[in-house]
Amino acid sequence: MASTQSYEVTIVGGGLGGLTAALALRHRGLRVTVLEQAPELGEVGAGIQTAPNASRVLLGLGLRRRLEAIHTEPLDQVRRRWQDGSVIGLTPLGERCTSAYNAPYWHYHRADLHRVIMDACVDPAGPGPVVALHTDSQVSGLDTTDPRRPVAITEDGRRFPSDVLIGADGVRSRVRDLMGAPDTLVFSGEMAFRTLIPGELIAADPATRWLVDRFQSTIWYGPDRHLVHYMIRGGEYLNVVACVPCTEEVAERWTAASSARELVDAFPGWDDRVPAMLSKAKDDVTCFALYYRRRDPVWTDGRVALLGDACHAMLPYQAQGASQAMEDAAVLAEELGAVTADGATAALRRYADRRAKHAGMVQEASLRNKTLYHLPDGPEQRARDEKLRRGFDGESD
Ligand code: FAD
Repeated sequence: MASTQSYEVTIVGGGLGGLTAALALRHRGLRVTVLEQAPELGEVGAGIQTAPNASRVLLGLGLRRRLEAIHTEPLDQVRRRWQDGSVIGLTPLGERCTSAYNAPYWHYHRADLHRVIMDACVDPAGPGPVVALHTDSQVSGLDTTDPRRPVAITEDGRRFPSDVLIGADGVRSRVRDLMGAPDTLVFSGEMAFRTLIPGELIAADPATRWLVDRFQSTIWYGPDRHLVHYMIRGGEYLNVVACVPCTEEVAERWTAASSARELVDAFPGWDDRVPAMLSKAKDDVTCFALYYRRRDPVWTDGRVALLGDACHAMLPYQAQGASQAMEDAAVLAEELGAVTADGATAALRRYADRRAKHAGMVQEASLRNKTLYHLPDGPEQRARDEKLRRGFDGESD
């Protein structure tokens, strides 16, 4: 339902959270400006999974046709033991997931998903006003002298006044700092290697061909580390994320170039299928320290509010960070779309009330998975595996 009176919203940050919010607000008839610090809008070269909770939001924004052109659907999610690759858990995805949750579990290349949402924001044939996207616009100041017209100020002094300001500027949110919200950032003691391995290399080798015979989302559990991989672009790439302990020194660098050698060396003694796969990585392996935010109810201040990683950054151990940002976007648009500008402060409070508890629970569950995934071999690990096996209804190889 469109709002009774169109008003202006500025969103700081054009990541998946900010752009989904822009599109959802556009659907409600609001006039949206996005300020992005990067010279070009885009996403990193990596994969992303959207579980039904996020797929439902995206499909609700009229993106089905565009998403069907870019998604890959895994048949199931399989959990394997580090030492021998034995299956300790199997969750059906594909059709069974779609019919159970009324929305699919899909994989994408991040850049494809980002482009689809961005294209819909600026499509002149879409509903509501076209979103104004400004790149090279790093926000460094916030002026709330008139609390009814918060102003985002860019580093080069441009001022963007609007009726509502949303900080969707990621885990190290500047808007959050400018709001005076508490410092809740925590270094996890872990880092993630990320890379895309060309599918043709995987398919050409009998030792890795199993990865293309059946598209699965796979998690390998091992002592103090785990590994996730799945196909994107219909098999063009295998997306790999490997999470391992890391030192403060790496955390200080935050993100760094790595190599296939370092990636393979991070999994000594693991099942032969692991080095066979990881050694196919090219030279575009990156590693970066993983931070998260402690659960925190401070999401709004007058007509300024936070969304996505800016308020609930979490470990990627449930693949839910962007998905939670998309849920934020849907609820934000419902609340702001139902009022005039005069009701925006109360609408933002309702948005935070509706979202903070759930996102906080997902943050904490992701943190618990850090312990659960990384249990050393022993009684607790065996109890975990037994529990997972009880939900497992057959061998997947
Ligand atoms: P971001 O994506 O960080 O976007 C913030 C944007 O704001 C950026 O474009 C940035 O340039 C811009 N910005 C920052 N500061 C400023 C400023 N001052 N002015 C203007 N612009 C600014 N989630 C899932 O749902 N599924 C997954 O499968 C998944 N896998 C993951 C795997 C890994 C290894 C990791 C680390 C995370 C994963 N996540 C996943 C989490 C997900 O990537 C994030 O939660 C999500 O990208 C957050 O989106 P966001 O828009 O809130 O922030």
